[in-house]
Amino acid sequence: TPVDTAARKLLEVRGLCHYYDGQSAVSDVSFDIEPGEVVCLLGPSGCGKTTLLRIVAGLEAVQQGELHFNGELLAATDRAHVPPERRSVGLAFQESALFPHLSVLDNVTFGLQQMGARQRNERARELLEQLGMTHYAESFPHTLSGGQQQRIALARALAPSPQLMLLDEPFSSLDARLRDRIRDDTLHVLKKVGAGALLVTHDPEEAMFMADRIVLMREGRVVQVGTPQQLYCEPTDPFVVTFFGEVNCLEGVVSNGYVHTSVGPVATDQPDGSRVQVLVRPEGLRVVEIASTQPHEHHSHVLMARLLGRTSLLHLCAHGTEGQEAHLHARMPGVFLPEEGQPVQVSLDPSQVFVFPVAT
Ligand code: ATP
Repeated sequence: TPVDTAARKLLEVRGLCHYYDGQSAVSDVSFDIEPGEVVCLLGPSGCGKTTLLRIVAGLEAVQQGELHFNGELLAATDRAHVPPERRSVGLAFQESALFPHLSVLDNVTFGLQQMGARQRNERARELLEQLGMTHYAESFPHTLSGGQQQRIALARALAPSPQLMLLDEPFSSLDARLRDRIRDDTLHVLKKVGAGALLVTHDPEEAMFMADRIVLMREGRVVQVGTPQQLYCEPTDPFVVTFFGEVNCLEGVVSNGYVHTSVGPVATDQPDGSRVQVLVRPEGLRVVEIASTQPHEHHSHVLMARLLGRTSLLHLCAHGTEGQEAHLHARMPGVFLPEEGQPVQVSLDPSQVFVFPVAT
C-alpha cells in the first residue's frame, strides 16, 4: 500500500517527562525530526539534554510521554518498548570508546555482523574514505589522535546506515581548530548519507553551524524550537537572546507605543504603561564619534575601548534625556578605538533589539 512518506516524521517526541528519584529532569518535551534533518538539543549544563538522548536511544525507559519512529510507536508510558538494538539509531557519545584490541577497520565493521565479510569490508572502507581515514584501516586506536578516534567512532556508528544518529557532545574533547574540521566532516557525511541526527551541545555556535533546527532547553523544558535564524532573529523569550551571547539590558515604561531608553526611543507593541526590558546585542549598537561641543539629545561617552581582533569592544556610558544613565557594551567591526571620555552618538539597529515584558 502506498504510504505518505512526505508527511511522515522520522522521530516524534511527545510530552516526555522524566524523573530521577522523584526529581524532575525533563518536563513535557515535544519536538520532531524530519527524515534527513539535523536537530540540535541546545541548552546549559543540566537542562536534560543527555537524558532526552538516552530516552530516544532506549537506554532510559519512557516514564511519561511517547516516542514514535517513522510513524510507529517506539515507547510510551507503561508500554513495552522497542529495545535499543532494534531501533534504527546510531550512537556516538562523547565517551564512546573504540575497542582498543580491534583495528580501525574491525571497529567500523563491528556493527555489521549480519552482512557477509566482503560486503562488510566494502561498507567500512567506503565510510573510512568519506571521513578521510582510509590510510588508517589497519591501525589500532591508541595510535590515533583524538580527532581521528572521533572520526572512527562516527564511522562505526554510521556503518549500519541508521536512519537516525544520536550524537552527544561528540566534538567536546577536541581542540578548537580540529573541532571545526570534524564538525564540517560530520555534517558533510550526515547530509551525504541522508541520515537524520539528534545532536546534543551546550555551544550555541556549534548548534547554529550543525542544525537545520534547534531545540533550545532550560531546566528540563523546551524554550523555543526553530531554525538557527529564527532563534537568533525572532527570539520568543529573553533567555533565547542571552543564550546566544552577551546582551545589554535597558528597562523602561511604554508610552504611546515607545519605550524611552538612554540611547533613544524604541518602538514596541507592548501595552502602554507596562514595564519592559529592551535587550540589545553589542553588535546592535552603532557608535559614531561626535564633537564635544555638538548638542545632542542623547549622548554617551566612551569608558574604554579595546581591540579584540576582527572587532573592537567599547564600554560606554549613555545618558538619556530623562536622566537615565546606562553602561553599555558595543562591538564595532574592525579597528575602532576612540579615546576614553570621547563623546559619541549611539543608535540602535532595530533588527538586534528585542523588547520583552518585565516579569512582575
Ligand atoms: P550536561 O550538558 O551537563 O551533560 P544535560 O543537559 O545533558 O547536562 P542531563 O545529564 O540530562 O543534563 O541531566 C539533567 C538533570 O538530571 C540534572 O539535574 C542531573 O543532575 C540529573 N541527572 C542526570 N542523570 C542522573 C542520574 N542517573 N541520576 C540522578 N540524576 C540524574
